[in-house]
Order: sequence, then structure tokens, then C-alpha cells
Amino acid sequence: MTEQASYDLDPEAPVLPAAAPTPMMGQYLEIKSVNPGYLLFYRMGDFYEMFFEDAETASRALGIVLTKRGKHLGQDIPMCGVPVHAAQDYLKKLIGLGHRVAICEQVEDPAEAKKRGSKSPVKRDVVRLVTAGTITEDDLLPARASNFLAALAMVRHGATDYSLAYADISTGETAVLDLPAESVADELARIEPAELLLSPATRAALADTRARLPDAALVDLPAESFDSERASQRIRQSFGESVDPTAFSRGGRAALGALLGYALESQKGKPLALRPPTAGNVAAHLAIDAATRSSLELLQTQRGTLKGSLLAEIDETVTPAGARLLAQRLAAPLCDPAAINARLDDVAALADEAVLGLKLRGALKRVPDLTRALTRLSLDRGGPRDLRAVAGAILAAHELAEFLDGLSEPPAGLLRVGEGLRRAPQALARELDRALEEEPPLATVAGGFLRPGYDEPLDAERRLGSETRTVVAALQARLVAETDLKSLKIRHNGILGYFVEVPAAQGGRLLEEPLRQTFIHRQTLANVMRFTTAELAELEGRIARAHEAALAIELRVFAELVASVRGATAELRAAADALAELDVAAALAHLSQTRSFCRPRIDKSLAFEIVDGWHPVVEAMVRADRQSFVTNDADLSGDAEGGQIWLVTGPNMGGKSTFLRQNALIAILAQMGSFVPAREAHIGVVDRVFSRVGASDDIGGGRSTFMVEMVETAAILNRATRASLVILDEIGRGTATFDGLSVAWATVEALHSQTRCRALFATHFHELTSLAKSLPRLSNHTMKVREWEGEVVFLHEVATGAADRSYGIQVARLAGLPDSVLARARQVLGVLEQRAAQNQGSSGRLSAVLDDLPLFSQALPPREATVNPLHEMLDAVRPDELTPREAIELVYELKKARDVARRSR
Ligand code: ADP
Repeated sequence: MTEQASYDLDPEAPVLPAAAPTPMMGQYLEIKSVNPGYLLFYRMGDFYEMFFEDAETASRALGIVLTKRGKHLGQDIPMCGVPVHAAQDYLKKLIGLGHRVAICEQVEDPAEAKKRGSKSPVKRDVVRLVTAGTITEDDLLPARASNFLAALAMVRHGATDYSLAYADISTGETAVLDLPAESVADELARIEPAELLLSPATRAALADTRARLPDAALVDLPAESFDSERASQRIRQSFGESVDPTAFSRGGRAALGALLGYALESQKGKPLALRPPTAGNVAAHLAIDAATRSSLELLQTQRGTLKGSLLAEIDETVTPAGARLLAQRLAAPLCDPAAINARLDDVAALADEAVLGLKLRGALKRVPDLTRALTRLSLDRGGPRDLRAVAGAILAAHELAEFLDGLSEPPAGLLRVGEGLRRAPQALARELDRALEEEPPLATVAGGFLRPGYDEPLDAERRLGSETRTVVAALQARLVAETDLKSLKIRHNGILGYFVEVPAAQGGRLLEEPLRQTFIHRQTLANVMRFTTAELAELEGRIARAHEAALAIELRVFAELVASVRGATAELRAAADALAELDVAAALAHLSQTRSFCRPRIDKSLAFEIVDGWHPVVEAMVRADRQSFVTNDADLSGDAEGGQIWLVTGPNMGGKSTFLRQNALIAILAQMGSFVPAREAHIGVVDRVFSRVGASDDIGGGRSTFMVEMVETAAILNRATRASLVILDEIGRGTATFDGLSVAWATVEALHSQTRCRALFATHFHELTSLAKSLPRLSNHTMKVREWEGEVVFLHEVATGAADRSYGIQVARLAGLPDSVLARARQVLGVLEQRAAQNQGSSGRLSAVLDDLPLFSQALPPREATVNPLHEMLDAVRPDELTPREAIELVYELKKARDVARRSR
């Protein structure tokens, strides 16, 4: 019987003769109405079915067939479904597209429902809400990234404007933070929550600020969800005595309460395994706003990929927990020199001990993801493999602690790590190891995960089970002898259980006396007949009971083991943290060795002195092209008056942006506690980094290039302090030349004389270089180029002084602009430069000057053929097929062709 056919015979089938819903559809609509905003996965047999609009949405999103099933209020009911065994994949896709899904299961045996009457639907209930911010399943989560749920509360009366709570439900990490309005967008950009909870009033208030919200799914919660009284209760409920709700501000309580409410609801009664929240402090870490994060491509590129980002370039961690911690550190570098130096000490200690580092990393590679295994076990969603993971991690922790003992002078950080590792309870690991099979199944349902010899009653039941199997074999032999049917077999299947099977041709004998006394007919198929006997039925009962009894014992033991793991949560978490920290320190040490990074000198001064610095991502790209990256110095070190500003001019493609960004990246890497891509670096801690790169439209946000740039520049001038590092790349280019120049001019002056921060300012407005005469802390620098036979060669070297020209036309030529356009551009440039030299180039007159030029079409020779004979010759060459002699001849021919081309130019 097919799946479909069984539906039709089922009282649950939503076929409706009249307008009233069937009992099942009634149940469906009721459950749907209490879960608004969720796609309802409604369990029917081996499928999750969706109806009505949900079905239409899901079939579009998942590309699955939309069918019809019965009628509701006279209309066809659209339906589609996904098989339960493949549900994770579909869920992943739906969540990725921003949907939220309610999983509705059958919560009683269908036989129970039948007892209430043939029309009675099986009881169902929503057992889980799956949303982007509340996932704990490994399959649905990125292993090496955090997955935060965040809640934002607005504070009406208080010192700060907003409070933000965030938690990664899969790892338990939780934090609460009070913050001023202007930091909201920055913090959200740092945390990158998968889901952000807020009240409609907060959403409206945020819309008024110009803050750009992250791409997170925004979830409106009613204002009551942010009630701080109710929040206190929830906080006690979730964290018990360990957390005092009054330790948080009112706003903090409100945000945390809303978050807990939503998270608890999503797990439908299962307690959350959150860790006591840390009360964050915005000032403790280096502030990096959303625009800067995106322009520096810290955790992802501007195209949204990990590949090509700074994180991808420096991530040498070997465990998922280490990768998550590294990403968090990069997202939130520190500001306290002592804390930064402590991290650097750890890295340095491991960098000095290459062999030890290798051993540590080798051992770390084999460590399972303890944090997430713990969370699944606390949420009752864990399986035998999670217990194995716990055991494996504990053993590894002790092994690693021993390795660390090999350090002659361990720094404080690594000592703490060692202590954390040793807290992992070894007795528990031994117990788990004794209990569990080496490679247990993922789930508990079928049993078979406990080792023989661990539990005596279990072994007894299992013996009974296998002994009865030998009894079955003996019975078969006896029946063969009794019936004289050699082909008689005892078989088993899921529907009939155990049965006697004989070829159909011989089955007749068993239906006749005397054998029909023993054999009871069950089934006749085309080729075989099936029977049972009283003895076989009795045996079957014994086997099933033994199996059930064994399973019951396994489940009980599993629950006991889970309880002992939970009892050791604090120690296990300490060990998990230590493992992640060790992975990060070892990874950064490895990075510093393989990439020749140096330890930066960090203090509270206004120093910023980089010797031979490089951009780690661009360097890797350049190296992949078999070229070498040119390292550059930078010195922005401030004095009592303020920081230095370097004004950088030079042609496009000269390496200005690379140079600017590499210095910001060096500061960020240093303050996260990493060695840096330079030969030497001395950095006085930076409180905020700003990086603005002109020319990026925010089309989605409805703002033009210039507007975006000005909003961002305003943010810098309003927020940067003397301790900040500001990188401005070509601002003022999205408007008329003189407007842009004036804005850039005034901005440089303000940075120099008001903000007094350390800054790098790249520009095409050569006029700005004259500012060096009046601003004492501003100096001119340029990207060196060499002109060679009419072409520019970029040396990528920063030198003192100003660029004499922009080389725009040469760069345009490299880009392949047609020769006719290039020639015309040279003509226009010639006239403009001549006029400027005569000091007549005011804007009003400019058009008049240009009017004097002959028209484009008249001024130029007819358009040259765009085919380049040299290129054609090269295209025709097959290097592998050339003899040495032919190769030499080819070189001569190529040179000849080039001479011809030159003469004809
Ligand atoms: P600009 O901002 O002046 O237009 P970029 O910084 O974008 O120039 O650099 C253009 C390209 O030049 C880069 O993509 C890179 O390939 C190369 N480049 C930049 N700086 C260096 C360097 N220091 N050494 C080698 N190649 C470099």
C-alpha cells in the first residue's frame, strides 16, 4: 500500500465533504493560529506537510511540487510536504531564506486516537520553533562561526539609550551591554546576530537614527516582552541563584528577559543551557563601526564571502571552538595594553617553541566540539556520540595540559589555560569510555551504544536475545525434519515478525492434516506461503521482550551518564574555554612563524610606527601571482599636540588603498593580541578605527555615493578622538570637483587641528598637498611610479613628497580604453594644463576653454583597428610545440613587429 493510499483511508485525511473543516483540518488551523509568523511543519506519517499559504511559500522556496488535498470553505487546499528523514536539509534552506518554522509532531500513538473514535485526529503539538537565532542542531549551524540571537531594548530614563542582550544558544555564551544610540549599529555589526528581537517602538526609533542595521532577520516582539519585572523572573528561572537580575540595568534586564522568553519559547519547555551573562562594556574594546568593518573586510569581504577576508587569511585554528573564538577576538580587539600584552605573551611563548606548537596543534585537531556537545546534552537533544565527544575532549584536555608543562617559563595566560584543562573531570571520561562503544550510533533509539561488560543486567538481556536466535535456528531444523520440506525457512520482516516460509507449490501440505494442527496460515504470495506456529509466536515474544528490556536499560544508563555530564558542567565549560584559548594562541603562533609576523610593541602612547609593513591579504594574492609585495613604513606617531597625518597621493592602482588598509589591519591585529605583518611595529592603543573609502553606493538604503560618504565622514569627525586611527581614501569624489576638493580640504584641517588623531588620507586632489606648508603635523607622501616608454610602472613604494601627476590616462590605457579616446584625452589634458599654467583655469571659464578645442571627431584620425598584431602573433603561439630555434626566431619577429607598430603610432 502506498503512502498516498493510506492517507485516503485515514480518518485524518483532510477531505471535506462540507464547508466545516475535518477534525484534522480543525486541529491544523488551531495550531497554526497560535503560531503566527511560522511555517507549520505538520507531521503526517513519514512526512511534514504544509497547507494553504505555507505550502505555496515553501514550494516556491524549496522548489518542491505543490499539490492539492481536499477542500476548505469550498476551495482546494494547497499542500506540499517534505520527508521527515530529509527535513534538516529543507529546514536549513528555509531558515537561510529568513523563514521561521514550527515543528508540529504527533504526540500520541495513533492507536490511542482510534480509541476515541474513528474520526478522531492524532494529538499533535508544536515541539520546537526553529529560527535563525535559536538553532542548536549541528547540521543547521556553521561550525566555525558563532550564531547569535540578540534583543535590543530602548531605555527611556537612564544613563544610556539602549541595552543589548545577545546569546549563542548553541554554545551558551551570553552577554548584556548598555550602550549609547550611536554605538548600536557598531555593536550589531560586531555581533552580526542571526536574529534581532525588538519592539515596534525601538524599531521606529532606530529608523530615525541613520544607523544601518545588520542583515539579521528583524523580529518584532510586543512591548510587554520587554517588561523588566517579568524579565527578573525569567532570569532567575534560567540562571538560578548564580545571577542576580538587579546586577543589570533596567534596560539590560528588559533585553535579556525578551531574549530568554523568545529562546525558551523556541525550545518549547526544554531548559536553555546558557552561561551566566557577562556584563559587557563598550569601552573595553576597540570600536570599529559597520562601514569600517566592511571596508577593511575583516570577517567577510564586501561581497559577503569569507574567502578573501582578513579572518580567512589568518585563521590557522584547528578546532571549531577555536575558530569561533578567533573570529570573536578579531571582531572585538582590546584597548587595554596589559590585556593585549598578556595575549601576546601567550603567542610569543608558543612561537618560540616550534616543536611543542606542532604537538599541541596535532592534539588539538583531534579534539571534538565539547561546547556544542554539552549544549545538545543539556537540551535533551544529545546522543551517544555527544557523550563520546565529552570523553574524548576530557582526555585530550589532560594530554594538552601535560604538553604545556613542557614550557620552561609559561606566561600567566597559558598557566590559566593549563589550570582550565586540568579541571576536566578525568573520572567522568573513564566512566564514559568504559560505558560507550568506540563509535556509537548517532541516536539512542535503536540502542547498541553501550559496551558489553559495562552493565550486567544489559548483558543478560542481550544474551537472552541472541540465545533465542539460536533457538530459532534449532526450531527451523526441527520443522524441516517434521515436514520433510528441505526448503522450509524461518524468516523475519517488519510487518509479520517471525514466520515460516515454504515455496507456494509445497505450501498445500501444511494446510492439510496433520500439519495444519501445527501451522497457522498467514499469507500467500506468488511464490511462497507463510505460516506461523504457536512455538514460534512464543519465541518471538521472548526475543522482542529481551530487546525491549535491553533498550530500556540502555536508555536508563544513557540518562544517568547525561546526568553526570550535566553535574560537571562548570568544569567541562572551563576546559572547553581553555581548549579554545589554547587553539587560538597556538594558531596565532603558527601564523607568526609561517608568515614572519612580528610581535608589536603596545603601550598607552600615541605611537604608530610600522617598519616594513604589508597587507596580509593582498600580499597573499600578489604572491599567488608569483610577484613580490613591496613592504612600506608608516609613522604617524603623535606628540603632545596630536597625531601625524600622512597625505598620500599617487596614481590609481599605485597601491594607496592597500597601504592605508594595511596599517589599519596592523592596528586591529595587534590589539586582538596577534603578531602583525611587519618587521617592527610600535602602536599606542587605538580607541577607534575608522576607515572610509569613497565611492560605494547604498542603493538599498536609498543614499547616493556622495551622501553615504558625507554621512560616514560626519561620523568620523563627530566621534573620533585623539587616540583614534582614521583612514580616509579618496573622499569628496562623488560631486563637482571644487565642492569635493573643499570638503576634503576642510576635513583634513579638522582632523589635524580639532580631532588631532593619527590619520592616513589618500587623495587625488593634488591641491591638498599645499596644506603641508600650514599644518605642522601633516606631511606629503606618494606612491612611486616610473614612466617607461610612455607606460607607467607602479613601484608600490611609499616615498616622501607629492605626486606630480595622476597618470590617469596611462592607467586608462592599461585598462584597455580605445586608442582614439586616449589620444583625445591627452589633447584635452594638454589644453587644461596649459591653461592652468597660465592661471586661467577657473570653473566658469573651463567650458569656454574646452570649447576652443576642435571637435572630437574632427580632431582625430579615423579609428584605428583595435587588433594588435603583436597580440595576434602571441595568440597563435603554442609554446610547448616550439623548437628552441623557432622560439628564438619568434622573439626576433616579435621585436620587429613592435618596431613597426611604434613607427606607425
Ligand atoms: P590604488 O588605491 O592606488 O588605486 P590599490 O591599493 O588598489 O591602488 O592597489 C592596486 C593593486 O596593486 C593591488 O590590487 C595589488 O595587486 C597591487 N599592489 C598594491 N600595493 C602593492 C604592494 N605594496 N606591493 C605589490 N603590489 C601591490
